[in-house]
Amino acid sequence: MRKSCLILFAAAALVSANANAWGDLGHRVTALIAYRHLTPSARTTLDALLAGDSDTLTGPDFASRATWADKYRNAHRETAAWHFVDIEIDAPDMAAACFHFPALGGALAGAGPAKDCVVNKIDEFAAELTNATTPRAERLLALKFLIHFIGDLHQPLHAADHHDRGGNCVLLAALQGQATNLHAYWDVDVVEALGHSPEQIAEKLDAGLSGAEAKKGSGGRAADWAMESFEIARRDAYALHDLPTCRHRGAVALSADYAAQARKDAATQLLKAGLRMAAVLNQALGAS
Ligand SMILES: [Zn+2]
Repeated sequence: MRKSCLILFAAAALVSANANAWGDLGHRVTALIAYRHLTPSARTTLDALLAGDSDTLTGPDFASRATWADKYRNAHRETAAWHFVDIEIDAPDMAAACFHFPALGGALAGAGPAKDCVVNKIDEFAAELTNATTPRAERLLALKFLIHFIGDLHQPLHAADHHDRGGNCVLLAALQGQATNLHAYWDVDVVEALGHSPEQIAEKLDAGLSGAEAKKGSGGRAADWAMESFEIARRDAYALHDLPTCRHRGAVALSADYAAQARKDAATQLLKAGLRMAAVLNQALGAS
């Protein structure tokens, strides 16, 4: 009895931990793709930065460090809102969703206001990482937030909302995989459907990509990526007969067509996140 309670508790903890971001699998995939596209000098600088990190929240390797910000959030709730930008699908307003892009006023980005969004934090942490005079500890923090947040922003339900906490309040009528709500379905289930390991999924998504496609896919800035994610969410993630909200709860059934489109979107978004992460890191670390 006690053991089964513990197992249930552990399972519930796992589901809730997964309910706020691409699961660890998605973040590992984006990091592995990014690493393949780093220049030799960016790779050397990155490896040296990570080698100086003694944090035990995750493993020390780059793919594990891409999951660090989710673990850090558990004891640092002031960073929770930095993982998403809730642009409302019925009244899109990125500035409002970003709390009007609060300025740091000289503070380090890692100590910035809790009310901020993933778009602003990506820009802030990228600037800190690029600046070689940033204090070493902050530069490492900037790197770890950045390699997580670029992934998060490419999960469509991290850039869109329908008064449902980005799909967290929308229950699934039938379990597809381990997810019980729409947000977790896009975080975890669609990624798990792409392959059996992060290495294999990264290899599959990256293989066959031409140099021109990689260059084209890696362009733009965080605000552009947010709107792209938002449009995918509006078009596909919220393509449902009913749109329950946190106030008017309900469950939705996902059709086979919906699931197929979701997997296609996830594959495209994970690849773009990886390419864009590489572009940001090459720019920030390539010359230092
Ligand atoms: Zn996250």
